[in-house]
Amino acid sequence: MARESYVGRFAPSPTGPLHFGSLVTALASYLDARHNQGVWLLRIEDLDPPRESRRASKEIITQLHSFGLCWDQEVIYQSSRIDSYHDHLKYLSEKGATYPCTCSRKKTPPIYPGLCRHNTFDSVFNPYSIRLHVDELQIEFRDLFYGIKSYDSRTEIGDFIIRRKDGLIAYQLAVIADDAFQGITHIIRGSDLLDSTAKQILLAKQLSLVIPSYGHIPVVVNNQGKKLSKQTHASPIDNSSPLTMLRLALKALGQDPQILAKNTKKLLTNAVNNWERSLVPMKNYIY
Ligand SMILES: [Zn+2]
Repeated sequence: MARESYVGRFAPSPTGPLHFGSLVTALASYLDARHNQGVWLLRIEDLDPPRESRRASKEIITQLHSFGLCWDQEVIYQSSRIDSYHDHLKYLSEKGATYPCTCSRKKTPPIYPGLCRHNTFDSVFNPYSIRLHVDELQIEFRDLFYGIKSYDSRTEIGDFIIRRKDGLIAYQLAVIADDAFQGITHIIRGSDLLDSTAKQILLAKQLSLVIPSYGHIPVVVNNQGKKLSKQTHASPIDNSSPLTMLRLALKALGQDPQILAKNTKKLLTNAVNNWERSLVPMKNYIY
């Protein structure tokens, strides 16, 4: 795909309908893209079939339409891109950047210390996951909201899984492959994914992919301080009052809530024109 000067995206997992937190993320990436005369794409991250459903994908699409958040080009589904992920995986393995790990998930610390680095693919017979051998000591990027973020690879990242033991491609690899495939230049998403960004940059470097600009916004939490998600039983957003919900989302993003706008089109036009990254509050928003 041709490289545009700004290509943004919203990439929900279809684990259920969008909740307020995902609306805020969608809106932030939409406003940032449109304010910069950018293209805005939609990708459905249905990588994990047992958890996810076609129905949820359709619901998400209906919700975005009812909020006036219209994307460019056709929707990309990760479930249709599996071969491409395996090509990337093969490339990484052939260049010696990966190794098979037979450790049990339960006994493995979250920052994996590389216990199986000595394994080779023809020496392993048990089911294994595939990890990226992380050589770099430090990974650093300039976040559009948080500024410089820096990670110590050994204590904060570790050798992470890029293909799971059950054969499923891990999120990190699929995402960086898709971002490159779609020519994404700017990624605006929740700050819960900051660590993922470090991993995705490491993968992009190994795959010689162009590294996009990243901007992370604070996440929306419930009154117990937990991020809104299906796991924390966040309720779906109310499609019947898009203006009210969009105003609440603008407020969460520190932007003018556009109370005079009479319809979603007008509200979004104004919000795009007035979008300012510097107004986004740098603390989690309680909803
Ligand atoms: Zn291992």
